[in-house]
Amino acid sequence: MRMESSTPTHFIRRIIEDDLARGRYPEGIHTRFPPEPNGFLHIGHAKAICLNFGMAAEYRGKCNLRFDDTNPEKEDMKYVDAIREDVRWLGFDWEDRLFFASDYFARLFEFAIELIEQGKAYVDSMSAEQIRQYRGTLTEPGADSPYRNRPVAENLELFHGMKDGEFGDGEHVLRAKIDMQAANLNMRDPVIYRIRRTSHYRTGDAWCIYPMYDFTQCLSDALEHVTHSLCSLEFEDHRPLYDWFIDNLDTPARPYQYEFARLNLEYTVLSKRKLIELVEDGHVDGWDDPRMPTISGLRRRGFTPESIRDFCERIGLTKSDTYIDAGVLEHVIRDELGASAPRRMAVLRPLKVVIDNYPDDEEELLDAANHPQDPAMGTRKVPFSKVIYIERDDFMEDAPKKFFRLAPGREVRLRYAYFITCNEVIKDEQTGEVLELRCSYDPATRGGNAPDGRKVKGTIHWVSAKHGRAAEIRLYDRLFSVANPDRGEQDWKAYINPASLETLDHCLTEPDLAPAQPGERFQFERLGYFCADRDGRQAGKPVFNRIVTLRDSWAKISNR
Ligand code: ATP
Ligand code: MG
Repeated sequence: MRMESSTPTHFIRRIIEDDLARGRYPEGIHTRFPPEPNGFLHIGHAKAICLNFGMAAEYRGKCNLRFDDTNPEKEDMKYVDAIREDVRWLGFDWEDRLFFASDYFARLFEFAIELIEQGKAYVDSMSAEQIRQYRGTLTEPGADSPYRNRPVAENLELFHGMKDGEFGDGEHVLRAKIDMQAANLNMRDPVIYRIRRTSHYRTGDAWCIYPMYDFTQCLSDALEHVTHSLCSLEFEDHRPLYDWFIDNLDTPARPYQYEFARLNLEYTVLSKRKLIELVEDGHVDGWDDPRMPTISGLRRRGFTPESIRDFCERIGLTKSDTYIDAGVLEHVIRDELGASAPRRMAVLRPLKVVIDNYPDDEEELLDAANHPQDPAMGTRKVPFSKVIYIERDDFMEDAPKKFFRLAPGREVRLRYAYFITCNEVIKDEQTGEVLELRCSYDPATRGGNAPDGRKVKGTIHWVSAKHGRAAEIRLYDRLFSVANPDRGEQDWKAYINPASLETLDHCLTEPDLAPAQPGERFQFERLGYFCADRDGRQAGKPVFNRIVTLRDSWAKISNR
């Protein structure tokens, strides 16, 4: 996989450049992103969005947002709204070109009439089951329906009757009259209209017949003057059918379709049907659960639009199916936030430390850099006092030699503060649990350096007990415990990782973080990158989602 920082080229770019060089599109290229509003968008859709909007922007063309809403059963306005929000958030603009295939129902009906009149479509009165039997298989040809040679006039009358509600669901369908012997099953007289007495979320009960996806998709592109219909590989076998519709109808334009491989991401599923199941069965906390591979989930987790666009660029575009390592997405956001996220201190699992030789009532404000490598990000004041909390993991009673953090008799640096030495461990007599550490500090090491040149091997983070703010921190792991849940021996849901969310609700942060706004991102030193969540605002106890660890989480590190 490509990981260069320069823009990788790909076959779609080459096709467009070639077309432009030949002067085929003097008005510029025109693409579209055509989601069905039956679920939220996921990272796979982001790939298609970046490609369609990206190509249009790069070659000064146009890109439409079109809802392919021909299936009244599953579509809903709430999905339209969510998709619009997601595309806009990703940084793309359809300007005044927001379209709905359902707005073309009347035009599509006319196209169907046009086919019937040419003797290229017929009303079939076989049942769905019979139609399936007559279709044949990959190795056997299909057989003609007994209704295939209905006269044009009869077809017109029946088709109008279908539209006017004279028949029940499934009584008739309209089929294209192509070739029941075709090697490509899509060409064996595909159904193009069916009766469905279901209200449509936009057209209500105006229609009781609905065009099929294949018929709608290519003709909508033609109506919108789309030049390059970019879509995923599963539509490759449908292309001859699209071409047949376009060639046999008087359309205002002639789009060409090019297919690319879908994005598959490891340790998750990217299919709306499965994502809906995760939401509806309560495996996750809604479409925007930070573990979901949806755009809204990634947004809530703390991913930026830039990181997702960058990811889509890096994974490249090919014609062969590949699975992308889940780490690539993490790598991209880690890179970005490494440069941009202000540093703060937070303690996930607090352990109390009393500094015996620090004056009881004293407190001081210490200077802390907001970004150690970027002085332009400035500094802030962090309060320090006699009682602080450190990370439980940063103390070990029987520490091996290589443990460079706090242990009895050992000295460490408190980030931005002082050197402290652990003198005593106070434990619960019954359980043996460490309750508190008694330490002493060296006042001469203020700011973290000893004037005598004495070195310490470890630096740990901390929060002043008196000044720290309570917070809830949510740590996420992969949603599935195997790389390809879709391809395992068991049902994909059997691989859901039961430990994908760990909620720590006794965390402490430096006071500076209390007013963090949902969506604000930070690096909590030594712990990773975090994003303030909308939850907790009302209760006054902020919630932070961990976006990623500081290092590759494959190598599970001890200072989680
Ligand atoms: P799903 O399989 O998740 O239900 P879909 O293809 O049915 O997805 P659509 O709403 O039809 O969902 O998708 C809109 C566009 O996004 C289509 O052009 C499709 O090719 C593209 N797309 C969907 N999933 C992916 C993916 N994983 N990678 C790249 N493009 C995708
Ligand atoms: Mg689809």
